[in-house]
Amino acid sequence: MTTLKACKNCKRIVEKGRKCPYCGGELTTNWKGLAIIINPEQSEIAKLLGVSSPGKYAIRIGK
Ligand SMILES: [Zn+2]
Repeated sequence: MTTLKACKNCKRIVEKGRKCPYCGGELTTNWKGLAIIINPEQSEIAKLLGVSSPGKYAIRIGK
């Protein structure tokens, strides 16, 4: 089983690696709620998360 990680900085879900391939931020396994953003401009969740590109994001990142 793969443990998905989320970037603490941009909230992207990252399947492997130690650093976020999008922004180089630190990854954590302590996150909740997977949001799949397809149309950032039409998505309330995207606005809430402050993201502008499609992808998978964590809704909440733990400390
Ligand atoms: Zn990132």
